[in-house]
Amino acid sequence: MLYRLSACEIAKGIKEGQFSCLEVVESCLGRIDEVEPDVHAMISTWRDQAIARAKELDSRLASGEDIGPMGGVPIILKDNMCTSGQPTTCASRILKGWMPPYDATVVELLNDGGAIVLGKANLDEFAMGGSTENSAFGVTANPWDLERVPGGSSGGSAAAVAAGYVPISLGSDTGGSIRQPASFCGIYGLKPTYGRVSRYGLVAFASSLDQIGPFARTVEDLARIMEVIGVPDHKDSTSQDVARFDFSSALRRSDLKGKKIGVIEEIESYDYDPRVKNALKETVQACRDEGAEIVSISLKAAIEYGMASYYILAPAEASSNLARYDGVRYGHSSKEADSVVDLYLKTRREGFGDEVKRRILTGTYVLSAGFYDAYYLKAQKVRKAIKEEFARAFEQVDSIVLPASPTPAFKIGELVDDPMAMYMADVFTIPVNMAGLPGLSMNVGFSKEGLPLGVQFIGPRWGEEELIGTAAVMERRFGKAKIAREVV
Ligand code: GLN
Repeated sequence: MLYRLSACEIAKGIKEGQFSCLEVVESCLGRIDEVEPDVHAMISTWRDQAIARAKELDSRLASGEDIGPMGGVPIILKDNMCTSGQPTTCASRILKGWMPPYDATVVELLNDGGAIVLGKANLDEFAMGGSTENSAFGVTANPWDLERVPGGSSGGSAAAVAAGYVPISLGSDTGGSIRQPASFCGIYGLKPTYGRVSRYGLVAFASSLDQIGPFARTVEDLARIMEVIGVPDHKDSTSQDVARFDFSSALRRSDLKGKKIGVIEEIESYDYDPRVKNALKETVQACRDEGAEIVSISLKAAIEYGMASYYILAPAEASSNLARYDGVRYGHSSKEADSVVDLYLKTRREGFGDEVKRRILTGTYVLSAGFYDAYYLKAQKVRKAIKEEFARAFEQVDSIVLPASPTPAFKIGELVDDPMAMYMADVFTIPVNMAGLPGLSMNVGFSKEGLPLGVQFIGPRWGEEELIGTAAVMERRFGKAKIAREVV
């Protein structure tokens, strides 16, 4: 049952010789075999490579080598991070057969830190979506209720951690894709400050919003993995050289005395699921009980206009980023084409799914000469207003608490034909990306039907330590995340 352990317990147990890397990997692969037919979280499972890597680490350990802070810890990557010589699909037909010639910086850092990659997880095509239903490789099921979605776009990564495949996985968050699936799957998810984790080798969706971050079942694991991946990288021009983390004191924080936590005024009157409303209420009370002062703040622009402006800016960037898939340079290339233009058209028609096409169309439209000012420019102004609004809020509070998603996990198929309703589900996560802030999503309980309920804490820029400290206090009240689909 080694798969049940946290990443920190695994690294420690291996270092102390209680068990080997190989035993851990075999336990996790066994767990994948057991649950994957139901959950379908993976696009590829690296069975042989993982076993070979575990053996290599075991022999390095036997010769007295320090195998790193993540030594022997199995992890799973969202399949939009480049892995050298291993397919990277972005859950799209258009990347069929493409093998990146290099590793993403996070992958390199994890390898150097001693982690073992077990495979790559399912996602919404090019990370566009909130349910993993937009994958060309089939939908992932929520491990807590197989009829429901795990959230998205990093749904596979979240489901894999919730189902006990691995203690840690990586996802990416452009408008909520780490925090919302973490909430739907009952685990922790952290979207770091924009610029904290290198995007080099992350396939771009909306470059000014994309950020890689981890999923885990304990706050300590979340902190330790951030120490490994949260380092400046000259290969990413938006990566910033800020002080390295020291989460040790944050993790030991005993209460929230002296802390001011903001609750958003505009959310009081917002119509959302009563179960989530209640989860937020309980969290706010828990913060109060731990000594925090609760302060009412206003984030009017963020809540009212965040969603609308994101769905202009993100598609605009996507339309430009996805122009590179032309049938010449990457993956799929239409066999039917009889001219270059025809090759572009047919490759893209065959290769992209509906949601990706919708975003490219919207993005191209809002950037076009006649409409640029009315849409793109205006949305940029809203983005600036949201940023300033948050900056003002953080003059008053240390962190802000709000739901991660207006509802718990919805049913597979429930929203597929209603893109607007699907977009609305991002209302609480999107403003955080617009302002480049860090956000931590965590489980605070379950509904009567057994669905995980989550909340998120938002911090100021570079405020990850504040979030980890707050979550550490909350974890002592609400407990560590549980593993789904276990017969106990
Ligand atoms: N659901 C949002 C979207 O569809 C966010 C996606 C993401 O964060 N990658 O754009």
